[in-house]
Amino acid sequence: MIIACCTDLAGKVRGKAFPACQFDVRQKRGVGWTPTNVQITCFDAIAESPFGALGDLLLIPDETARVRVVLEDDGTAEHFVLGDIKHTDGRPWELCTRSILKSALERLERLTGLTLYGAFEHEFQFRSGPSRLGEAYTTAGFRRAREFAETLLAATRSVGLEPDTFMKEYGSGQYEVTTAPAHGVAIADQATILRELVRLVGERLERPVTFTPIRDPASVGNGVHIHLSFLDRAGKPSTYDPNGAHGLGRHAGQFVAGILKYLDAIIAITAPSVVSYLRLTPHRWSAAFNNLGFRDREASVRICPVSDLSDIAKASQFNFEFRAGDAAASPHLQLAAIVHAGAQGIEEELEAPQATQEDLSLLDAGALRARGYVRLPQTLDEALNRFRSNAVVTSWFPVGFADVYVMHKKGEQAYLGERNHEEICALYEQVY
Ligand code: GLU
Ligand code: MG
Repeated sequence: MIIACCTDLAGKVRGKAFPACQFDVRQKRGVGWTPTNVQITCFDAIAESPFGALGDLLLIPDETARVRVVLEDDGTAEHFVLGDIKHTDGRPWELCTRSILKSALERLERLTGLTLYGAFEHEFQFRSGPSRLGEAYTTAGFRRAREFAETLLAATRSVGLEPDTFMKEYGSGQYEVTTAPAHGVAIADQATILRELVRLVGERLERPVTFTPIRDPASVGNGVHIHLSFLDRAGKPSTYDPNGAHGLGRHAGQFVAGILKYLDAIIAITAPSVVSYLRLTPHRWSAAFNNLGFRDREASVRICPVSDLSDIAKASQFNFEFRAGDAAASPHLQLAAIVHAGAQGIEEELEAPQATQEDLSLLDAGALRARGYVRLPQTLDEALNRFRSNAVVTSWFPVGFADVYVMHKKGEQAYLGERNHEEICALYEQVY
């Protein structure tokens, strides 16, 4: 059976399976889908829904995002395909994350002729098993996950993604995995696919994983870092300008400026859980301010290094990285919000931001304001308020999207009730 699926407001991958022999007809007919599904929170409680029990939609599988993988263990195939949710008359559904991303990418292309080229970098942790002291970045830490890494490598290759790196990260039982960049909507598709493969391998090897933004407020978080660059219509890299600020070409500079200008309002989408805000605090190598960093890992957007030693031309190496995201978000929605903010920056012809050189957490509110920085929201509530009250940001999304999104997140918060941080972290660890 093939699961036709999509990423949703909860950052979950949900779907419905059909016999594989029906693939061709299902590409036209799709599978039936229910509007209120979008209000199923990560905790399975249904948030307030404007749709109630009414309505019918179609989830239409997209051949280009079809994945079939057989791990070497027991021969059971994993088979799924991402798709778009449409109204029965074929219009994209207003809450379809993949359609929202497509329209953001169209906006960028309309404005500039540029397409997006990039990859997600994922951090995750094994939920159980030996987690020993002294293993950060070590060969010993890698060895503890070698079987996992090799199985994942084979699975990744077999579905047409190009594996890049796998490493023992800093945190307890924490690892990081990357793949080579992809184009346009495939950037988010591949992020979704890779995360599914990590989960699959974890289940098969009985080493369950979690991508939760943070497991323990006293510890390090699991970030999602999104590397981005642009290609022109001829497919040539079009991000780098050796004479631009920090190497940013004109459009790239405006794009990054747009992300930073609207970051406090889109963060409700890129870092959308209650615990996301425990991670987005200073000195965690995550992101606490709307600043640009030049090779600085304590920034929301970081200009990544280019090397003179590489066999790849500098213009092709050059990319910037969005660091204020986590895996509680749909990769499609997360990328859509970033692309819209960037496109807005291009429309407004914003000036390329200056990179910060110092520890912004040492500045008081007045000094931050004078320099044009904001401390990013420190709770999901605050983030949702800034999202909802920013009319520019909500206008990027289809009519009705912002209200439903906020209702969804309120439903997620309501489930948590009066639990303390530790209990809340434990719940998120279970569901992501
Ligand atoms: N774990 C950090 C985060 O929460 C990132 C560490 C790194 O730079 O890779 O984003
Ligand atoms: Mg990392």
